[in-house]
Amino acid sequence: MDDRSLADAPGAEAGGPVAPSRCGGHARRPLWPLILLVVAFASSALLAQYQKKPPDFGGVHAFPTPTHPEPRGVVLLSLDVAMLAVGLGLGAYFVLKRRSRTGTLLLSIAAIAYFGFYRKGCTCPIGSIQNVTLSLVDPRYIISPGIIAFFLLPLLAALLFGRVFCGGVCPLGTVQDLVLLRPMNVPRKLDRVLRWIPFLYLALAIFFAGWGLPTVTSSGKAIVLRRFLICEWDPFIGIFRLSGPFHMLAIGAGFILVGMFYGRPYCRWLCPYGGLLSILSRVSWKNVTVTPDKETYCGMCADACPYGAIHDYNADRATCVSCARCYECCPREIVRLRREGIPAKRYVSVPGGRGPA
Ligand code: SF4
Ligand code: SF4
Repeated sequence: MDDRSLADAPGAEAGGPVAPSRCGGHARRPLWPLILLVVAFASSALLAQYQKKPPDFGGVHAFPTPTHPEPRGVVLLSLDVAMLAVGLGLGAYFVLKRRSRTGTLLLSIAAIAYFGFYRKGCTCPIGSIQNVTLSLVDPRYIISPGIIAFFLLPLLAALLFGRVFCGGVCPLGTVQDLVLLRPMNVPRKLDRVLRWIPFLYLALAIFFAGWGLPTVTSSGKAIVLRRFLICEWDPFIGIFRLSGPFHMLAIGAGFILVGMFYGRPYCRWLCPYGGLLSILSRVSWKNVTVTPDKETYCGMCADACPYGAIHDYNADRATCVSCARCYECCPREIVRLRREGIPAKRYVSVPGGRGPA
């Protein structure tokens, strides 16, 4: 769909003829089952650290070689956790309360500066999947409560508010968001198939971190070789550290190149943590609702979402990354902003968009 005048959009003005609302309100969900679920999961991860008897692996084994710097001191790691918690809170505030793309964008830039370039991509919730897995399988592998918090906080936020971590806090998501030049759509069938890859990658990452493959060293010793695949193949870590092996920099450059035309390729078709977040976001307490009140059925939001996350005029709970872009194109939102004296942005469409023909 090409650029349109806002005035042309059906039902753009308050009081205009509109179809019944399909996504204007938030369905209230009971919170306590979700909180119980997260607390139970957190407890199991923590208790795994204090098992009395280590399991018998039937031979020697090697822990994966960390590709990230060693964890920082307690005070600095606590600062990281505090920054993450504040970032998640602000993300939820900007996306759900203020409905502000500008606020979300500024937050994500601050997050990439801190978690990406200053902290060099470590500690990261995506990689923490492996630490948590290994600590659950082998109690001799000790991880700090800070890393457990990094693993759990974005999941808890997803249960409450959707994928606000992806939209405003994750440096990997931001780097892809910032390079998006001319977003194009992927055929929906292909997109659906590709979206299974993160779950496959998640299973592989868990297997290699927790169990690994039996192998024989050059000295003839049998060991179980565990790997942290997510860290070893993180495409953006070289960008944050401004250095890295050639193949990693090349993969990162490849994702950047593809990401100029297809929004967030790593998030949509590879990120294993995104897979986890998408499951929890399906049952979240609150989530993105494109129009602030009544649905106009104009389809402009579907055209504007670069991630193919709007289906049937609704933001899909699983695939929406809470970037708040679609708000800016919704005629109802523009009316609301003007009513509140806030300058409204221009509508930008995605070539080959998915609005109604
Ligand atoms: S999908 Fe993964 S890489 Fe993308 S923003 Fe979410 S956690 Fe980060
Ligand atoms: S529906 Fe699309 S544009 Fe809207 S917040 Fe979700 S990902 Fe962003």
